[in-house]
Amino acid sequence: MLHINNLHVSINGKAILNGLNLDIKPGEVHALMGPNGSGKSTLSKVLAGREEYIVTAGSITYQGQDLLALAPEERAHQGIFMAFQYPVEIPGVNNTYFLHQSLNAIRKARGEPELNSLAFMRLVRDKLKALDMDESLLKRYVNTGFSGGEMKRNEILQMTLLEPRFAILDETDSGLDIDALKIVAKGVNTLRNPERAMLVITHYQRLLDYIQPDVVHVLSGGKIVMSGDKSLALELEAKGYGWIHPEWEEAA
Ligand code: ADP
Ligand code: MG
Ligand code: MG
Repeated sequence: MLHINNLHVSINGKAILNGLNLDIKPGEVHALMGPNGSGKSTLSKVLAGREEYIVTAGSITYQGQDLLALAPEERAHQGIFMAFQYPVEIPGVNNTYFLHQSLNAIRKARGEPELNSLAFMRLVRDKLKALDMDESLLKRYVNTGFSGGEMKRNEILQMTLLEPRFAILDETDSGLDIDALKIVAKGVNTLRNPERAMLVITHYQRLLDYIQPDVVHVLSGGKIVMSGDKSLALELEAKGYGWIHPEWEEAA
């Protein structure tokens, strides 16, 4: 589904990713870990198509196509969903309206009929129920004044509505309470199926108590330096990153 080969990325002339390789197959959930500042968010932004991140070498193939040739909206239309560490606030725009419009845009791109308000409300209520969430977020302005946990809930709600092919979740390094982590995990676990893949970026092992990743990767020095199963995450939690390479201790 996703094939990243020898990816080099710079921002403002500074090299951040230096030869990153990653392969993700349909049905797989991968966790990407690594010290703060190692480039985890940079990778998610390159996948989303943020233009300030310059790809200086390498390639990214998504479902057989050159991902880097696709505009950000086209990527979304092809089923890529990105949950960012810091979601945007859209004051004055009602959240129900926002979610409804996002879903209809994606449905249109998939060649499916748009949903009217009634059908959308029925669907969103089902999704809320599946996530054990209440309706209060729907009535508010998009992310405006939302707590970290509320933003996370809203993002997961959006993800379950859009039913992406490939979802990237860039987790905040701190500040999420255990209930918010459980919502994220519930979203990932609910969406898990043989056709869909997910990349969960996380600084801490904690989230992986609730999500069982198929593969865990460690990013450092701009590339993936170690991959393993869930036990790698447990090892990182217990020992930090220093045992892989001593100079990482500080960064972690
Ligand atoms: P992580 O998500 O692993 O903590 P990031 O991808 O956010 O790491 O950052 C990797 C490196 O790139 C850091 O040194 C950071 O300072 C730098 N960086 C990220 N975004 C920018 C930017 N917009 N301008 C300048 N430097 C950046
Ligand atoms: Mg960071
Ligand atoms: Mg980050």
